Amino acid sequence: MSVDLHSHTTSSDGGHSPSELVRFAAEAGVDTLAITDHDTFAGLPEAIAAGEEHGLRILVGVEISVRHRPGTFHLLAYFPQLGAEPLSERLVEMRTRREERGRAIVARLESLGAPVEWSDVVGRAQGAIGRPHIADALVAAGYVKDRQAAFDRFLANGGPAFEPSRGLEPDEAIALVRESGGAPVLAHPFSLRLRRKDLGSTIHRLTQRGLAGIEVHRGDHTPDQFRTLSKLARKLGLIPCGGSDFHRQSDERRLGNTGVPPLPSETPELLLEYCDSDHPVRT
Ligand code: AMP
Ligand code: ZN
Ligand code: FE
Ligand code: FE
Repeated sequence: MSVDLHSHTTSSDGGHSPSELVRFAAEAGVDTLAITDHDTFAGLPEAIAAGEEHGLRILVGVEISVRHRPGTFHLLAYFPQLGAEPLSERLVEMRTRREERGRAIVARLESLGAPVEWSDVVGRAQGAIGRPHIADALVAAGYVKDRQAAFDRFLANGGPAFEPSRGLEPDEAIALVRESGGAPVLAHPFSLRLRRKDLGSTIHRLTQRGLAGIEVHRGDHTPDQFRTLSKLARKLGLIPCGGSDFHRQSDERRLGNTGVPPLPSETPELLLEYCDSDHPVRT
């Protein structure tokens, strides 16, 4: 059995409904699954019900967009139960910002000679709108052969149609998660695109602000990346976390694949203990 603390549903840019995702996870031998959609908790009630049906524990999670350049900063957050306020309320505004950013990307595409209808993009999303929905619209319009080509040619960070995320400031995001009773965890730390030394000092600073953990166990980490992050987590007293970051069956990522070595089974308890504690800001 395995534990997977990072997954997406159709409530953001995943390809499967929450109940379908939970069924796939049960079939893949996952016994604890966190749903971590981008900027929304919308998939969780359905996932929790499906978890009861399949005998699988569902953890309440979310992947929050944070402002950062030149890479991507995603803050995962885990909660003992639904109803994370004030965070939930702020996410409403974040989803509006996602929409505004999506429209700005579509405007750029038009000036690049690859117009797509905004209504077509919206029609592909059932929840939080993201670049993958725009990528699918570009594929459907025949500009590119697949989603990856849409990212490579237009949408990737720094690409011609890219617009930076209009998320929360890092300290604000961490504080909001903590105030809402959750455990903040830095997702895929290498996507920050910092040099090793800067990565260490940045994560150190975030730890002082109250970061609880970082993703260490991921199927897409090289052995060298695993070692670097594992050491850093130990040095800073952070909980080594991880997951598959599964979006859809057709992708390479597999539910429950958290790399080698896999995510330890006690990690959910460490996160929930963190949520329960007073976790004072370290200075
Ligand atoms: P967004 O939330 O709109 O910034 O979109 C982020 C999502 O786009 C990620 O979760 C990935 O699923 C996907 N993505 C980001 N960068 C790339 C890339 N270079 N190639 C393929 N997919 C990507
Ligand atoms: Zn995603
Ligand atoms: Fe992410
Ligand atoms: Fe993700």
